[in-house]
Amino acid sequence: MINAQQTAIVQELFSPLCLEKKVRLFLQRDDLLHPEVSGNKFRKLKYNIKHALESRYDTILTFGGAYSNHIAATAAAARLSNLKSIGIIRGEEHQPLNVTLQTAVNNGMELHYISRSDYKLKEQPIFLDRIKKQFGEVFIIPEGGTNELAIKGIAEMKGDWQQDYDFIAVPFGSGGTSAGIYSVLGEKQKLLIFSALKGDLVSEEFTSILIQNTIVDSGSWMMINQYHFGGYAKVKPELVDFVNAFKNTHQIQLDLIYNGKMLFGLYDLIEKDYFPRETSLLAVHTGGVQGNIGLIERLGVELD
Ligand SMILES: *Cc1c(COP(=O)(O)O)cnc(C)c1O
Repeated sequence: MINAQQTAIVQELFSPLCLEKKVRLFLQRDDLLHPEVSGNKFRKLKYNIKHALESRYDTILTFGGAYSNHIAATAAAARLSNLKSIGIIRGEEHQPLNVTLQTAVNNGMELHYISRSDYKLKEQPIFLDRIKKQFGEVFIIPEGGTNELAIKGIAEMKGDWQQDYDFIAVPFGSGGTSAGIYSVLGEKQKLLIFSALKGDLVSEEFTSILIQNTIVDSGSWMMINQYHFGGYAKVKPELVDFVNAFKNTHQIQLDLIYNGKMLFGLYDLIEKDYFPRETSLLAVHTGGVQGNIGLIERLGVELD
């Protein structure tokens, strides 16, 4: 884990649309950072794992839904670092396990299921005390992996940028990735945050993460909330068609929950002349392709 390839490839995405609108669109391939610890989760876990090892914890405990990229990545990262891992999973157990959870178990993760109502309390001190009583001295990483160490890991991606892109685009879940990028944004750069969640509270959530982590908010970010396709993990045929067409054109697989929606939105904004000519855009492919299997299972989505 610690010694894996840590520099992301940045490639340009050529298309008639970008040519016509005279914008340049680049894709940062964080999806290729690691075969098992995918995308932004690799960066978010890096310093968490390091801290757990240095503080001599032997177990990492974290939270997630049954198809969570974070659960999948944490289980793999823990195994590769010789740490034990515990996953607290939202909802009931279903046998046989889905591919995400089965892979986590194969990576040595011990799964515990809690009700959706208990899951909502997971950040409360009383709940965390109960966890400590039940599991002993474990290193706890929050849902989605967002904490100070995650933000530090994300901030390192700046080292992979080959030019001063005018805009950086990133998908939003719990906000740690957006906050980490925002913390190293250049003065003239703007961050476009594509929410994978429905609702108007995402901007406030993001602001509170910036405050918690004492990241100066100069206002050069924008929450784009009209490409969530009905909400988290909701999918529509035009999104599936887009992801399939993108793969045919660029030979790059996108996940449907985050990156498919972000790139759909970016192309739509380019089409609508949102960006001036000569603009350069960098979209961060945050990985998460493992999550497509769950959507194929649950919704019968047909991906090429
Ligand atoms: C977790 C995840 C995100 C969201 O990242 P946050 O830091 O939680 O906002 C985006 N893309 C993928 C593929 C993810 O797995």
